[in-house]
Amino acid sequence: MKQESKTPKKPLIFYYLIAMLVLLLLNALVFPSLLSPRVKEVSYDQFLSLVERKEVNKVAIENDVILFTVKDDAAKDGYAYYQTGRIEDADLVNRLKESGAEFSAVIPTQDSALLNFLMTWVFPIILFVALGLLMARMLTKHMGSNAMSFGKSNAKIYVESQTGKSFADVAGQDEAKDALREIVDFLHNPDKYAAIGASLPKGVLLVGPPGTGKTLLAQAVAGEAKVPFFSISGSEFVEMFVGMGAAKVRDLFKQAQEKAPCIVFIDEIDTIGKKRDSGSGIGGNDEREQTLNQLLAEMDGFDGAKGVVILAATNRPDSLDKALLRPGRFDRRVPVELPDLQGRIAILKVHAKDVKMEDNIDFDTIGRATSGASGAELANIINEAALRAVRMGRSKVAQQDLEESVEVVIAGYQRKGAMINDREKRIIAYHEIGHALVAARLKDAAPVHKITIIPRTSGALGYTMQVEEEERVLMSKEDLLNQIITLTGGRSAEEVVFNSITSGASNDIEKATSTARAMITRFGMSDTFDMMELETVNNPYLGSDTSLVCSAETAAQVDGEVRDIIRAAHQKALTILRDNRDVMDKLAAFLLEKETITGEEFMEILKQCDAERQPVSLVKENQ
Ligand code: ADP
Ligand code: MG
Ligand code: ZN
Repeated sequence: MKQESKTPKKPLIFYYLIAMLVLLLLNALVFPSLLSPRVKEVSYDQFLSLVERKEVNKVAIENDVILFTVKDDAAKDGYAYYQTGRIEDADLVNRLKESGAEFSAVIPTQDSALLNFLMTWVFPIILFVALGLLMARMLTKHMGSNAMSFGKSNAKIYVESQTGKSFADVAGQDEAKDALREIVDFLHNPDKYAAIGASLPKGVLLVGPPGTGKTLLAQAVAGEAKVPFFSISGSEFVEMFVGMGAAKVRDLFKQAQEKAPCIVFIDEIDTIGKKRDSGSGIGGNDEREQTLNQLLAEMDGFDGAKGVVILAATNRPDSLDKALLRPGRFDRRVPVELPDLQGRIAILKVHAKDVKMEDNIDFDTIGRATSGASGAELANIINEAALRAVRMGRSKVAQQDLEESVEVVIAGYQRKGAMINDREKRIIAYHEIGHALVAARLKDAAPVHKITIIPRTSGALGYTMQVEEEERVLMSKEDLLNQIITLTGGRSAEEVVFNSITSGASNDIEKATSTARAMITRFGMSDTFDMMELETVNNPYLGSDTSLVCSAETAAQVDGEVRDIIRAAHQKALTILRDNRDVMDKLAAFLLEKETITGEEFMEILKQCDAERQPVSLVKENQ
C-alpha cells in the first residue's frame, strides 16, 4: 500500500559475517605474517653465532630488522625464517662475507612507503567509515524507522489509489466529505477557482471525537485526490533528539513544495500543536514549541496558490494553540461528529459488506441500540458478530450475533463462570426490573429494549437497555429528570423489596449525579441560578472533563441543588415501585428464570398485569 523502497531483509548475522571477513582480510594485509610462514625471533648474539658457525644461508637487512634463513641441517626447529633486531654493527658485512652467506639490503621504495601510508592511515579510516555505515544500516533496520536520518521527515507518501480507500468507504459524514471534495476539486482544476479570484484554504482541520473516521477521511482524500499525499502523525515529530522535530517539519514542507500540487496530512496534530503557554513546567516543552513554531513559519511561508493543502486531524481542538487556528493557517474547520441513526446504519452496512451475513439482518434495530457509538465501535460490533458466528459454528452472521456483539462492545463479554448466589441474583433482578419499571411508568421515557442479569466481564452484574424511538438532539428538562428517576429506580427496588441497600448502584449514582449537576451548572435548568454558566467543558470530544467557573459559596449551593434533584427523583421512583409491587414481583420472577427479557416480553407482562388490575382500580374510584 505504501510506496516505500523495499530492500530484502537480511538477517543480522549476515552483516556480522561480512564485518568479520573484512576484519580478517585486513589483518592479513597489515600483518602478512599471519598468512605467511612463521618467523622465529632470535637475539643478535644468537644470530652472530649462527653466522660464525656458517649456518646462515640468506640475509636481508632492512631498516631495523635483519631477516635470515638458515641452512637445512641447522633448521631443526621447523622455522623457515628468523629475524633479529638490527644493531649498528660495522663488522657485520665482513662477518657475513666470511661466513659465505648471501646478503642484501632492502631499501624501502617509494611504493612501499605509499603502501605503508595507506595501510596505517587510509585503510583504518575506510574500515571505520564502512563499519559505521554498516552499523547505521543495521540500526535503522532494527529500530524500524529512520533513526539515523536525523531531521528527515518520515512522512509516507501515498499516491493515487494506494490507500485503497475512497469516499465510498466513509459512510455518513456528508458535510465533511463535501468540504474535502472541494479541496480535491481545487487541486484538479485550479484555473476554475483562479478565474473568479478564490483562493483555497491553506489548512483544513478535521475535528471530532475519537473513532469517527477522521483518519479514514484523510485516507479517502488520498485515494481520490490523484496527487501526492504526504501523511505523518504528530507524534512522529517528537524525536529523541532535541531540535529534530523542527528539522522534520522543514524537510516535510520542502518535499511537499517540490511535489505540489499535493496534500500534506498531519494526524493527531494536538501532539505538537498544544497551547504554548500552558504550564510548560520544567524545560521539557521547548522541543515541542520549536516544532510548532517551525510549523507555523512553514505554513506562512508557502504560497497557497501553488497547491499545497494541509490537512490535519485532532480530537482536542480546544487544546490547540490559537496561532494555528488563525486565518491563513488552519482557517477551515471540518467537524466530524458521532454518527446519527442514519449514519450508524450506513456505517454498519459499509462494514457488513466485508463479512458474510444472513439476508434478513435488521440493521435498523442495531442502529437504534447503538446510540452514541462511534464509527470505530460500529466496525468493531460487526467484527465481534463475525467472530461470534464462527464460535457458534455458523457460516453467516445472524441477527442474534449482532445483538450479542452490541452488548459485548457496550458492556464486555458474558462472564460465564461468575459465581453469584441466589440471594444476590434476586437483588440484581429486582434492581434491573426497578430501572425498567420506573422508566415504563414515566411519561415519555425511552422504552425498554432489553433487560439482562447475565454478568459481564466489564463488571456489570446486569443492565437495562433503553432505546429511544427516534434520534434525539435536544433533551428537555423533563427528559433529564426522567433519566435521573430511572437511574434511581434500581436502588429504590432494593429498598422496597429487601428493605436494605447494596453497593450495586454506584454506577447509577455516578450518572444521576453528573446529569443533575449538568442541568444546574451547564444547561441553565435551575431556578436559583437561571441561565448562569457555573461549569465549563474543557473538551467537548473527550468525555466529561469540566472545571467550575464559580465561587466556592456558589459551588456549595450547587451541591445542595444537586442533592435536592436526586432526592426528589429517588422519592418518585420509590412511590412508583411501591404502587407497582405486584408487577415488579412478576417481572422479577420472569427475569430470574430467563435471565434476559426483551422489550416486547417486558411490555407483554406489563399489559397483562394492568389488565388484571384495571377492575380493582375502577372499584376503588367508584367508592
Ligand atoms: P479517528 O481518526 O477519527 O479516530 P479512524 O478514522 O481511525 O478514527 O476510524 C477508525 C475506524 O472506524 C476506521 O478504520 C473505520 O473502520 C471505522 N469508521 C469510523 N468512521 C467511519 C465511517 N464514517 N464510515 C465507515 N467506517 C468508519
Ligand atoms: Mg485517527
Ligand atoms: Zn442500576
